[in-house]
Formats: sequence, structure tokens, C-alpha cells
Amino acid sequence: MTRARREPKRLCPVPMCGNAARAGHLMCRDCWSTVPKPQRNAVNSTWRDVKSAISRHSPLLRSLVTVYRVATADAVAAAQRSRP
Ligand SMILES: [Zn+2]
Repeated sequence: MTRARREPKRLCPVPMCGNAARAGHLMCRDCWSTVPKPQRNAVNSTWRDVKSAISRHSPLLRSLVTVYRVATADAVAAAQRSRP
């Protein structure tokens, strides 16, 4: 029995996209390129906050994850709106 397990391919969360999301990234390159800068910055900065809260075992982790989820939902919605 092997414990080795291939990481399943994660799909880009933008509806009707169907591309694989880039490893370590929220969505595929095409969709990300359509996300306006403020939404991109929000995703990146809230993700940094989450990572920092994890490493510091911060009690704020839960609420920071919620803020990150809102930012990602916003970015996904923006990418979806810009689809042709
Ligand atoms: Zn995509």
C-alpha cells in the first residue's frame, strides 16, 4: 500500500471556465488577468493575513478566513462578469 497520492487537479472556480487553477493560485491565469486590481489586491492581502494568522496561531484566524472568502468570492464574481 502506498501513501503517495497525487494532488487532484483543482478547477478554476469561475463558472463556465473549466481550466485547471494554477497550483497555489485561486484561479487560472486567464481569469485572474480579468480581475480588476482592487479585487486582486484584496485577495492577495487577505491571504497574507490568513497565512500570518496561521503561523502566529492567532485567535483572529476564523474571522480573517471569512474576510478572505469574501474577497475571493468578489474576485470570482468580477472574473465571471468579464467573461465574453
Ligand atoms: Zn478560469
